[in-house]
This record gives sequence, structure tokens and C-alpha cells, in this order.
Amino acid sequence: MRDMTGLPDVAGKPNWDAWSLPGPLQADQPALLDPDEPPPFEVINPRGAANALLVCDHASNRLPRRLADLGLTDDQLRQHIAWDPGAAAVARGLAARLDATLILSCYSRLAIDLNRPLESPELIATQSAGIPIPGNQGLSARDRAARITALFLPYHRAIAHWLDAHPDPALRLLSVHSFTPRLAGQSRPWHLGLAYGRDARLAGQLGRILTQEADLCLGDNEPYRIEDHLDFTLPTHGEGRGIPHVMIEIRQDGLETPTQIDAWVERLALAHAHI
Ligand SMILES: [Zn+2]
Repeated sequence: MRDMTGLPDVAGKPNWDAWSLPGPLQADQPALLDPDEPPPFEVINPRGAANALLVCDHASNRLPRRLADLGLTDDQLRQHIAWDPGAAAVARGLAARLDATLILSCYSRLAIDLNRPLESPELIATQSAGIPIPGNQGLSARDRAARITALFLPYHRAIAHWLDAHPDPALRLLSVHSFTPRLAGQSRPWHLGLAYGRDARLAGQLGRILTQEADLCLGDNEPYRIEDHLDFTLPTHGEGRGIPHVMIEIRQDGLETPTQIDAWVERLALAHAHI
């Protein structure tokens, strides 16, 4: 297994419990979350019986109170730069429909992006889609460590622990995201994208079923593919463990109403049931 994070490799997988931040960063870290704030992640349907774990890295646009909205406006925080609108609703619907466990983030990707390697310059973005993020400029090592400790590690430890406790050889890992209809002035034609890296098993199986829908424009590794320098969740928890996995990307103009969301849940649940 490749070394994606610098985490100690124990029995072929990262040892999340043993890993902590190096050197003096461990001591005297500033707290990020107040006791009355939500935890960094939420587990839905923890005893789900399905052979699937759902994860949602960009489920929320909430920011820890101490980050003071990172200096952004409410309007900016409602945009895609802060989260994946609609993704959490689809993921929750799928968890119920499939009787699957779902682990989702409770904080914005602008505090820290849970799907970026720790060494990525996009882990804590200083700008996104051309919008400067004032509260992410010039962070100290201690500030960065506080975000990793409070938000990044708990989420990924929760996924790792769930997978450790459910060694099902038939397990699948599905990561739910959404994408903007336009990027850099270009329309994106795909209603749904299935993204993968070196392991195309699950994307291929789902894709073969979904392409039977004549009206569905399906992106094969579009608009995104899984890449080592950009992605963290599926390379680590899917590829790193040999678990078939896929990133499901739904275009956001198809997630604007409960009816649209229900339709995606049903479509994806039926496809999942047929593989
Ligand atoms: Zn996303």
C-alpha cells in the first residue's frame, strides 16, 4: 500500500489511533470546537444491515464558531465552495433506503477538506473558485494542527473504526458528492458522475446499470476522477483496504427539491440492489 499520509502502516493499513501530530504540535493546541457545538461527524443508522458504507465528506457548510465564518458572507457560505449542496440529503435517503450506515461530516470543507491529503495545498483552502478565504490566510502550524485534530482525524478514524468492525468481503464503499452545473463558464452535461482511480469495479458495475436509462447523461470519471494528489477518502479507506468503492457525483440542479432528491435516492438504490 502506498504511503498517502505519513501515517504509520500497521498490518497493511494506517493506524489511526496511534497517529498523532508530530513534535510540539501535540501540546498546547488551541481548541477548535466548543462543548456546545456539534461533533465533527455524525453516524446515521450505525447498525445498518446493507453490505455498504456511505460517507459524505462535504455534507455541511457549518463552521466552528471560533472560525468566525472565516470572514465570508452568508451568501458565500451557501455556495458550493463551502459544501456539496444536496449531497447529505441523498446520502441520508440512501442510508434509509438501503439500510446502510452513513458517516457524514458536520463541518464545512472550508475549515478543512476531508477529501484532501494532509500534504495538499487545498487541505485548508486560501481561495476557492476565485473567492479568497480571509480566515484561512497565513495560518500557523498550531492553527492547522487544531483543525486536523478537531475535524479531520475524528472523521477518518470513525470510518476506519467502522470498517475494522465490519470485515465483510462483500462490502462496498460509496462516497456521495455533488457538483456545480457550470464551471469556469463551461456547462457540464453529466447528470451523474461515477469517479474511480485504479479500482473501477464498483463504478463499472453501477455504470452498466445506470447507462440503461436513455435519458441519463452519465459521466465516466467526469467531471472528476479520483487522483492521489487530490483525493483522500476513497484512496485511503477503499483502495487501501481493497474494498470496491466509487465516488458518486450528482449535478446540483438535480438536487433542488425533495422530489428530485427522492428520485436520485431511488435510482441509486435500485442500481445498488442489482449488482
Ligand atoms: Zn464534494
